[in-house]
Amino acid sequence: MRTQVCIIGGGPSGLLLSQLLHRKGIDSVVLERKTKEYVLGRIRAGVLEQGLVDLMRQAGVAARMESEGYVHDGTQISCGDALIRIDIKALTGKPVVVYGQTEVTRDLYEARENSGGQIEFNVEGVTIHDARTDAPSVTFMRDGTHHRIDCDFVAGCDGFHGVSRKTIPDDVRRDYEKVYPFGWLGVLSQTPPVDHELIYAASDRGFALASMRNSNLSRYYIQVPLSDRPDDWPDQTFWGEFKKRIPQGHAAKLITGPIIEKSIAPLRSFVTEPMRWGRLFLCGDAAHIVPPTGAKGLNTAASDVHYLYQGLCQHYLEGSDDGIDAYSDKALARIWKAERFSWWMTNLLHRFPEWSDFDLKMQQAEIDFLRSNEAAQRALAENYVGLPY
Ligand SMILES: Cc1cc2nc3c(=O)[nH]c(=O)nc-3n(C[C@H](O)[C@H](O)[C@H](O)COP(=O)(O)OP(=O)(O)OC[C@H]3O[C@@H](n4cnc5c(N)ncnc54)[C@H](O)[C@@H]3O)c2cc1C
Repeated sequence: MRTQVCIIGGGPSGLLLSQLLHRKGIDSVVLERKTKEYVLGRIRAGVLEQGLVDLMRQAGVAARMESEGYVHDGTQISCGDALIRIDIKALTGKPVVVYGQTEVTRDLYEARENSGGQIEFNVEGVTIHDARTDAPSVTFMRDGTHHRIDCDFVAGCDGFHGVSRKTIPDDVRRDYEKVYPFGWLGVLSQTPPVDHELIYAASDRGFALASMRNSNLSRYYIQVPLSDRPDDWPDQTFWGEFKKRIPQGHAAKLITGPIIEKSIAPLRSFVTEPMRWGRLFLCGDAAHIVPPTGAKGLNTAASDVHYLYQGLCQHYLEGSDDGIDAYSDKALARIWKAERFSWWMTNLLHRFPEWSDFDLKMQQAEIDFLRSNEAAQRALAENYVGLPY
């Protein structure tokens, strides 16, 4: 096979890049190691920054997001029973959109399929060759047969556990990592959300988040020790603990009901540098991870896609390599700011087991400052709604 851009990974980064390139007449093939059903079954992010909303429009896949997504002008932070509302629209002029990553991915798959896009599922043994030459290739196995794709560029959109990042030699690549001493237990429940906006709850029992997918589908999380397993949290135990971490008024009106998904995700901050090696470009979780506090995972993936898409368009349509040459530096400059924000939000809202009384006082002072200071609220709002591309 031959294509212009071989995209490894059929998650949101890979699909969005493929769809955007297609609309500019640039050909790509997407290689995905799982099935489409498996990818669509993963319950992950749900808050879209304006940048991603705009990219969905550019990609021609915004119709369902526009009609079914929820526009949120504000978000809330609670500390015990006290609530701080951050009016992100008033402070920044922009809202965020609540629309599940599953739906984003579904819309992108549909668009790729409708326009005859080539997506190879169930691929194994993906290997990138000659990335430092002008003629890279990718080999893989499917149904016991060897395949090879010759291409101009390889986009590594294959997530944290993919093959792309590991293809960059250790002496070229530098990884930066922080692992947090807790995880998030997340549940998806067929119940109306407890509030029409998200609530990020700091409590002396640990963090909780009240989020949502639609008017009868709630997404709730609590901070748990890393040693916990989902089976340690029967539904009633989860609801009991969740109620203790959100403000009493909300706990009283919380509707509990069937939990249809329950999982635990560890929290990690991670960045690899550089994000380009020859003709291989890393995008999204392949290059960086944030703790989900601050809702930046999917959104940083989107900003990478934007920079790479711009660079590839310049290469193919204007004959200039300035964009692809600047890709790694531009993407990383924005990513580090999103990493800082996600790390800061995590410190603001979680209970760290090793913290001293002094650390707890610092956390309380930070929340008090946020409550009383509009500049602090604006700084939060600007980061939450997404820094400009
Ligand atoms: C459990 C969980 C919960 C999350 N919750 C949130 C949240 O609440 N808010 C938020 O903002 N972000 C959240 N995130 C982060 C967000 O989902 C990711 O940032 C986003 O999925 C990144 O998209 P991606 O396309 O870069 O990577 P991925 O979504 O990981 O997609 C990569 C794709 O590549 C495929 N792949 C991997 N290896 C290979 C290979 N060798 N060959 C071919 N294909 C391969 C994978 O199967 C996958 O489909 C969460 C992540 C996880 C894991």
